[in-house]
Amino acid sequence: MTEKYIIENFTAGIGVDEYISRFRDEKRFVEFCRQCPNYGNSWGCPPFDFDTGEFLRQYKYAYLMATKIIPIEKGIPIDKSQELIRPERIRIEKELLELEHRYGGRAFAYVGKCLYCPDSECARKCNRPCLHPDKVRPSLEAFGFDIARTLSELFGIELLWGKNDILPEYLVLVSGLFHNSTENIISHTKRNPDSGNL
Ligand code: SF4
Repeated sequence: MTEKYIIENFTAGIGVDEYISRFRDEKRFVEFCRQCPNYGNSWGCPPFDFDTGEFLRQYKYAYLMATKIIPIEKGIPIDKSQELIRPERIRIEKELLELEHRYGGRAFAYVGKCLYCPDSECARKCNRPCLHPDKVRPSLEAFGFDIARTLSELFGIELLWGKNDILPEYLVLVSGLFHNSTENIISHTKRNPDSGNL
């Protein structure tokens, strides 16, 4: 199988109070969520039936992960983006749940279609409970965080957008664990850098 992309993993730590005060603007970002068809139609997306600020503040520390996906070929059409993103989301979401298990706390995954119902038809559309609440984690955006600023100020990475229906030089997925552990969080131990196959 030909390697189609390279992965670079980055991590950053910040106190939850500081992350909220510097990088969270719930009103602004949930307004973007409202324009997405998943709003109110996926259990991973807003609106949530609890106070998200109170939920976040039960944790002291935010351990953030940025996963840079660098296509080896240039000029990949944007409609192929899921072929690069999906395998990494599967890997990262598995790792996030392992981190929760190991350190406690709550994981936040990359925004996008839920990975856990095969046809992506969420039970929320029929007012039924989530079928996999043990696996589904919302995104940081859904809780009102500014991901472009998170990337630029905490990781020194610029968020790029595609042009003319072509993917940019790289994509970045941002995820993390909110926790109260005093241990050093260790993740991505074997994969920096690594490459992926399509
Ligand atoms: S696991 Fe299924 S029911 Fe739960 S959020 Fe995902 S798509 Fe919806």
